[in-house]
Amino acid sequence: MKTHMSLPKQMAIGMLLGIIVGLIIPAMGIDAAWFKPFGQIFITLIRMVVVPLVFFTLIAGAASVSDVSTLGRVATKTLIYYIVTTALAVTIGLLLANLVQPGVGLSLSTENLTPKQANVPPLVKVLMDIIPLNPIEALAQGKMLQIIFFALLFGFGLSMIGEKGATLIKAVDGCAETMIKVTGMVMLYAPIGVFALMTVTVATHGPAVLLPLIKLVAVMYIASLCQILLVYLPCVKFTGLTPGAFLRGLASPLIIAFTTCSSAAALSANMLSVQKLGASKTVSSFSIPLGNTINMDGAAIYMGVAAIFAAEIYGIPMPLDKQLTVLLLAVLASIGSMGVPGAALVMITMVFTQVGIPLEAVALVAGVDRIMDMARTTINVLGDATGALLVTRLEQGELRPEPDTQS
Ligand code: ASP
Repeated sequence: MKTHMSLPKQMAIGMLLGIIVGLIIPAMGIDAAWFKPFGQIFITLIRMVVVPLVFFTLIAGAASVSDVSTLGRVATKTLIYYIVTTALAVTIGLLLANLVQPGVGLSLSTENLTPKQANVPPLVKVLMDIIPLNPIEALAQGKMLQIIFFALLFGFGLSMIGEKGATLIKAVDGCAETMIKVTGMVMLYAPIGVFALMTVTVATHGPAVLLPLIKLVAVMYIASLCQILLVYLPCVKFTGLTPGAFLRGLASPLIIAFTTCSSAAALSANMLSVQKLGASKTVSSFSIPLGNTINMDGAAIYMGVAAIFAAEIYGIPMPLDKQLTVLLLAVLASIGSMGVPGAALVMITMVFTQVGIPLEAVALVAGVDRIMDMARTTINVLGDATGALLVTRLEQGELRPEPDTQS
């Protein structure tokens, strides 16, 4: 089996090569746009598999749950984990930014930059929107929460009709297995996609763009590291996995997240990886797609860090009550963020508006957003994976890793 390099290794090499090529092509006068389509192909391919993968695995999962209260328990534990870890994420971002003060001594011009404000839908509307008017439309538009809602109901219905549903359950199981295989096939292109995406990112956001805002970027990365060390690894330890096995097992989704800056793009790989690590199918097929949409710890860290940074630059005092407002809003805004590049940059306008930070601040941080988005998305994905493993451990007392396949 091990005749050639494992996929995560190939992806890591693709990423390194992308950094090198991205650094040298501007000097050689080569346009980074040449590499763009190769990255785009990758993103489209992995997004292509998401809807059918989630839809079938979730129906299969729900249909196999003999008693609905099991899923109720899983959902409750998952949601509690999501809210607690997201709140911790903002707190870590705020604390670190208060400590390092990344914006002190910096005054940048914001002229000619006009940021857009996010239209934040009220919470009631978000909740109402979970119910699809037309499930087929939800599938066609890839509306994840609606798909989850309908697939769960469909799965439960299927399990309730007994013998009559047996053939369909088999068929859905077959579709789910097939989509897992298709995902594996698509992933074979990952090393090239990762290479191209990295080349474009480094070539267009080279060191020159980074330098003035290096402190902000550093705080973001250190806060992300703290989130891993202080929040995720203790959870992982509880599951019985070693940190090494945990990170190695998640290499593929993490590299995809880091290079595409889209947790939606990393969804399928994340689901397969946590299952290999021992997360149960029932838990992961529910919690990973859900977390992908509503659990964004990386975005939450970022909002804490960026709010303090922007307040410092504009000389706006941030007493404790304002920071608590940031905490609450960042949790809500991260729930509302989507798993696409730059989502948190738009959602942060909600936080800025509430605490009186001029929206021009968004333009300030936009220059380095891609670099920060890489950390954000990686943490977003890691948070979901940790949740699936933790809830599995809580549910069944242990992880049951799959015997293993290739990489
Ligand atoms: N790019 C992030 C993701 O896909 C969202 C964000 O934080 O901007 O998870």
